[in-house]
Amino acid sequence: MALQNSLTETQLQTRRISFLFDGIKGFIEQIGVVIIIILTVYFVLRGEMTIGAIMFHILLFNNVSAPIRQLHRIYDEMNDALIYSESFFQIMNSDHQIEPSGSYKPENITGKFEIKDLNFTYPDNELRTLEDIDMVIEPNKITALVGLSGAGKSTLINLLDKFYSPDSGEILLDGVSLEDYDTAYLRDHIGLVLQKNHIFNGSILENIKYGNPDAFFEDIVEAAEKSYLHEQVIKMPDGYDTPATSLSGGQQQKIAIARMFLKNPPVIFLDEPTASLDAISTQQIKESLDAIKKDRTVVVISHSISQIIDSDMIYVMKDGRVVEHGSHAELYEANGTYRKIFDSMAKSMNLSLMTEYI
Ligand code: ATP
Repeated sequence: MALQNSLTETQLQTRRISFLFDGIKGFIEQIGVVIIIILTVYFVLRGEMTIGAIMFHILLFNNVSAPIRQLHRIYDEMNDALIYSESFFQIMNSDHQIEPSGSYKPENITGKFEIKDLNFTYPDNELRTLEDIDMVIEPNKITALVGLSGAGKSTLINLLDKFYSPDSGEILLDGVSLEDYDTAYLRDHIGLVLQKNHIFNGSILENIKYGNPDAFFEDIVEAAEKSYLHEQVIKMPDGYDTPATSLSGGQQQKIAIARMFLKNPPVIFLDEPTASLDAISTQQIKESLDAIKKDRTVVVISHSISQIIDSDMIYVMKDGRVVEHGSHAELYEANGTYRKIFDSMAKSMNLSLMTEYI
């Protein structure tokens, strides 16, 4: 985080200096043209030069200043490259990349999370994002996090994934503090599907394979089939060799889901997994996610009723706190925050009118 901030700060400084020099450079160039015009006009009036010489001198000035401008551009690009490469190597060499990492690597993970008295503030945010969180996430069950935007749902997932450490309180996984787990091992056992997932510059095949680098081609095709991507890929002229970055947002989302099928982890976090999919893809993905949800720890964040209603446990978050928890039926009866959110979701879908056509 600190490295990224320093990269941004250096870039801003370079941009500021670059704009200042651009301004001065433009000013000097224009002044140069004016001086040449005045001088040549003076010499023409004195009869020491022809009128054509005015044009000749301006063209000459432009011809000389163009390579200087080009040199300046090369200098700018070199500066940018130096900043990026310096930060790149700092990030690559950083000891803090997956810190704090413990060394605990159990034979297998059951997937029971216990969150106790947890408080968390983002390093660059003065306000506390999560406050007094107490939560139990049971294995082989689906736990939903519900709340309005900014309630802190994604932040909680970030902490469960060990992307950040809590200010106070603790998170236990199968009775052992998350801090003690080997970070790389932990992430190998967690499947993460976000609203927007990282798709790198490579083929569809390489991008899906990222879920399990040891997978064979048949496994990759099977994962693509389960995430309803295969049918679309085989219609493309280059098939699985098509660059993944050229796919639509929804297709890229299916790549992230295929990666998870390939990884087959005991713990799954789904943060708005169908947010960028069309209605048919959403239905298809919901079916395949329902299949993969079995016998694992699943935490799902969603603003869609269909993905929340069948959860075993729902935690309702508001302004960084858990305000209610229970099953859908219990929370609905309680007539509190969940009921309000649920009723708004139902109203926004115009369910009463829709049921006439279903
Ligand atoms: P949504 O449903 O819109 O995804 P959310 O409940 O998942 O919302 P979070 O993304 O966890 O909410 O954000 C909770 C608060 O933390 C917000 O006020 C947000 O501005 C802040 N926040 C989120 N990410 C960061 C970050 N990287 N640095 C600083 N503050 C952050």
